[in-house]
Amino acid sequence: MNTIIKNKPDRCDTHGDFESRNVYKNVWTKCPQCAAEQQAVEQREKEERAAVARFLAWQKQLGEVGIPERFSNRTLGSYVAENEGQCRVLAFAQEYAEHFDTVQKTGRSAIFCGQPGTGKTHLAAGIGLRLMEMNKLVLFTTAQRALRRIKDSWRKDSKESESDVVRLLVQPDLLILDEIGVQYGTKFEENAIFDILNERYEKRRPCLLLSNQTLQEVRSFIGERVYDRLREDDGKCVPFDWASHRGSAA
Ligand SMILES: [Zn+2]
Repeated sequence: MNTIIKNKPDRCDTHGDFESRNVYKNVWTKCPQCAAEQQAVEQREKEERAAVARFLAWQKQLGEVGIPERFSNRTLGSYVAENEGQCRVLAFAQEYAEHFDTVQKTGRSAIFCGQPGTGKTHLAAGIGLRLMEMNKLVLFTTAQRALRRIKDSWRKDSKESESDVVRLLVQPDLLILDEIGVQYGTKFEENAIFDILNERYEKRRPCLLLSNQTLQEVRSFIGERVYDRLREDDGKCVPFDWASHRGSAA
């Protein structure tokens, strides 16, 4: 004789006893409090992603450098590796993108250092494009623009607070921060960069920092605190130590 049971008592390790409902065949509802918490988390993540999408749209509106426009053809596949150094950085970039799940577990960041025209931006954009194909959220901006946006948030008529801006910079799976060291290196700038990188570090969200300066200069610019943070999780300094292709092509 088949008895159709609609409810049965169940127990959640966190929230205790609850009444489970039969949904379909042998499918039963889970703890309602856990379900509500899970839904709240998903909702928050959805809102954060929507906010980043708005941020990206905002960048586009202002004609800022974004991967979709200027770097849409700068893929890892179109990077020409002729010398040993170029082969080394390409191998790094490929490994970084293909094993990004591992990178995300460790929060492993990297610093690309070298003269202008050595292909740092191309390679970073290539990593970003590859990750976007893998449905990762990537934000590509310059340190100056990030700082400008923070400063803009201080204005009385600003629609966003400073913490809104920091949150937008922290949310993406990968943050590519170009032109590190072009800023004036004030205490505010050092602190702001530290806040962004530190919060990303806490959430194990990696960054690629790009700079035309030497590693020593980058290090003194970003400050020892940030540098230590980057190194703690096996962060790599990737030197682009050959002559500019722009120079040699001229
Ligand atoms: Zn529960």
